[in-house]
Amino acid sequence: MTEAASTIAANLAQIRERIARAAQRAGRRAEEITIVAVTKTHPAETILAAYEAGLRHFGENRVQEFEGKTSALTSLSATWHLIGHLQSNKAARAARLFNRVDSVDSLALAQRLDAAAAAENKQLGVLLEVHLSGEATKSGVAEAELPALAESVATFPHLQVHGLMTIPPFFDRPEEVRPFFRKLAELREKVARRIAKPLPILSMGMSHDFEIAIEEGATEIRPGTALFGARPVANLGGDAT
Ligand SMILES: *Cc1c(COP(=O)(O)O)cnc(C)c1O
Repeated sequence: MTEAASTIAANLAQIRERIARAAQRAGRRAEEITIVAVTKTHPAETILAAYEAGLRHFGENRVQEFEGKTSALTSLSATWHLIGHLQSNKAARAARLFNRVDSVDSLALAQRLDAAAAAENKQLGVLLEVHLSGEATKSGVAEAELPALAESVATFPHLQVHGLMTIPPFFDRPEEVRPFFRKLAELREKVARRIAKPLPILSMGMSHDFEIAIEEGATEIRPGTALFGARPVANLGGDAT
């Protein structure tokens, strides 16, 4: 194993320990939880090393940034997630590059993705990103608009709605984020009933709070820093542009 891969493997082992303990507290099985490794701002070599360490799901938050890495990644058999805010005018490129778009938050965007997936002759998995914090941000559908969005997206022939995603506010004390995760889990049940389709995926929890997310039902967690160390400060970005 390369040195980079063994560092990541050691971090991954610690994360798996944390997952196992959180799952046990919640009476869940650790295998129910998938790690989506967040590689934004990191070069393609880091993704190759992470793959060598055993990771198979990767999250990027900018279309253009990921586009620049893909030529180095063609030999990998991985699932590529877009986790950052996506502008409709980049939907076609996103549908081409990613297996799943975890940040669908408007009907206009879903329409563009469906058309783009049709043109690519593929089924594109999506999550609906829900905005729960009340803070003004540009990403996420408001809770009140979620059911209608889910109903519409469920009718698109080239999109498969797998579940919900959220990015809660940051708290120094992770415990304070619990109500947001609990809320997303409740919404998942409600929306699944409403559209009469299972929504198996709940994507929630980052490096510092994923244990709480797991206790509240997360099936996918999105650690970045815990796997790869701190990102360059200038480029923390939450935007897919
Ligand atoms: C950056 C990012 C993460 C990873 O955050 P860490 O604190 O580094 O684990 C997870 N999810 C989204 C949507 C992100 O933008």
